[in-house]
Amino acid sequence: MNNNVRQRSRPIFSAGLAHGSSEFNDELFIKKKSLPLFRSWTWFLIFFTYLSIFVFVLYCDLIRFPSPVSVDSLKQSGEARGLQFSEERARNFVVELSSIGPKPTGSYENEVIAVDYITRQLEYIKSHTKPVNKIDIDLQKTSGCFDLTFKDGMTSCYKDVKNIIARIGPQKPTNKSIVINCHYDSVPTSPGASDDLVSCAVMLEILITLSQNDQALPNEVIFLFNGAEENILQAAHGFITQHPWAKTAVGFVNMEACGAGGKQMLFQADRERTWLLMSYANGAPFPQGSVVAQDIFQNGLVPSDTDYRIFDHFGNILVRLDFAYVKNGYVYHTKFDVPAAITEGAIQQAGLNLLNLIQNALTSPDMIKVENQTKVHLVFFDFMGIFMMVYRVSVATAINALIVVLSFLDMFLKCKRSGVPFKKKNAFNWQSCHDYDIELSRSICILCINCCCA
Ligand SMILES: [Zn+2]
Repeated sequence: MNNNVRQRSRPIFSAGLAHGSSEFNDELFIKKKSLPLFRSWTWFLIFFTYLSIFVFVLYCDLIRFPSPVSVDSLKQSGEARGLQFSEERARNFVVELSSIGPKPTGSYENEVIAVDYITRQLEYIKSHTKPVNKIDIDLQKTSGCFDLTFKDGMTSCYKDVKNIIARIGPQKPTNKSIVINCHYDSVPTSPGASDDLVSCAVMLEILITLSQNDQALPNEVIFLFNGAEENILQAAHGFITQHPWAKTAVGFVNMEACGAGGKQMLFQADRERTWLLMSYANGAPFPQGSVVAQDIFQNGLVPSDTDYRIFDHFGNILVRLDFAYVKNGYVYHTKFDVPAAITEGAIQQAGLNLLNLIQNALTSPDMIKVENQTKVHLVFFDFMGIFMMVYRVSVATAINALIVVLSFLDMFLKCKRSGVPFKKKNAFNWQSCHDYDIELSRSICILCINCCCA
């Protein structure tokens, strides 16, 4: 027998079948010289390639964060603030709000201390705003009832829950706005640093940046600090159904957490209108997102919900995005959800992404005519947090079909090269394939032909 084809001992599962009793022709394989494919250097190359990919993925996922920017370095830059963001200042907001402790809706900590802290920060920012833009602040107390299809369904009623709302825009109102939402309340068992104070801190820092802009904003941004999300989604309902500013909103960005640290991830998006999604994809320097996460979440595999649902069901806002921190889910709603659990650079990543998203969205002509945007169904995902891919579902379908066609074509060509008689019925069987150490793809090829032609 040819040395390139090693005869195995009789296969276990084929006991009782006489080797060579089929119509399998040994010579077809013997004639065909097996390639010495797996020499030692080949194994080394394969191992090195896989190791490199593994290290690259780990680097992108765990290490590749922007460097946190300090307040001093912002001052020293001496430039107009532009798109600058300071993690140091945002982290201070998180630390101070977390130090209040758990803030369940209705508690003194939530209704008085947290409200007072955020309101004072907003008033301070307002007093230092450059005159080309203006900031309006409102404290909404709201009551209502609504039905929710979450889990088995429920009716939720609330009274006097609070929203702290800041709106920044040009001196002359445009009546077109984007709502950015966080919640400052927490579950009774957690200080809620990541869920969701860090998002409120990011919003405060971005409001500072926008307030120092030397140019008038093209449209308005509404920062909604809502005080009743955890039980369940009530303050968001009060805002979107009752607050007069909500009528101007054409876009909604929600920021949440079901973990702590890591990168903030886009896990739900309006996939039919491209305005906000493309503003994020084109602008975010450290994008993170996946349409797969959206499918998992919207199919109910994650027993959780966000204000995104309220804005979807009860608002007339056409375009929405939903972000969350998803790493380290074990700290979610526990006493371990503290500022120290937030990875260094994670706030900078979220802040820069959101800031660029807002800038892109405000200047996009699509914001003015979002009602007229053509509906397309989109697929989105990031590549290692480096860039974002967004394309139509029809393109995805074409790519998938092409891969299937190329796979069959590849099989066909390999069979042809190996001299396999394509149309001959029962030319090979599993016994024959298993008896020889032959190239894997060729085995698969033979099996497929056997299935298709036999
Ligand atoms: Zn939350």
